[in-house]
Amino acid sequence: MNLARQLYQLQELDLEIESDERALEQVTGQIGESQAVVKAKAQLESEQQRLEELKHQQHTAEWEIDDITGKIAAAEEKLFSGQVKNPKELASLQQDVDMLKTQCNRLEEKALEIIDQVEQSEAAVAGITAELKTMTADWQRQQKQLAEEMARLKAVLADLKQKWQRLSQEIKPETVEFYQQLRERKGTAVARVEQGICRGCRISLPTTDLQRARGNNLVQCSSCGRILFLA
Ligand SMILES: [Zn+2]
Repeated sequence: MNLARQLYQLQELDLEIESDERALEQVTGQIGESQAVVKAKAQLESEQQRLEELKHQQHTAEWEIDDITGKIAAAEEKLFSGQVKNPKELASLQQDVDMLKTQCNRLEEKALEIIDQVEQSEAAVAGITAELKTMTADWQRQQKQLAEEMARLKAVLADLKQKWQRLSQEIKPETVEFYQQLRERKGTAVARVEQGICRGCRISLPTTDLQRARGNNLVQCSSCGRILFLA
């Protein structure tokens, strides 16, 4: 095989390896914990804590209402029992009952407000839980796809590198080294020649260069220095 063609093929492999390595790097970067899932979990935890606190407040308010209801019942029983006959004492008892009832009303209002907040918090917890479930499922699906893509790219790269090894062994080591140095310097080491033009620098090549490039010797473009390859 023509040496320039071999080097051109080596370059094609190098370009593919480079592009797949970039893809692999990108895929690897995406593997790991999802920030959105982490954030939603923290949100859920804080809402659950709030709900627990609200429920505690609700129970306390209910207990206080029970307590005061008992006190009202006892005071009213005394008031209507007929045992207290002194008008001053009766008026004082009535005042106590009225005061307790006002307190009870205030407590009931407060309890209703807390129950409203409990319901809102329960809805929030349910909402975040559902969202988290969907997010986690999406994330797991995505991670599975990424892992598959990673395995595929690794296999492709192993195959390409093997091909590169095989091909480079058919070429003299110093020529491979020359190619690699040129590639490092220029980005591409081998330039196709199309219609007498070097595709590396787009210059029209002199006929002598074209004739020499048809042979089996490596010919470099007199303008950009790349190895000329006549397809
Ligand atoms: Zn050139």
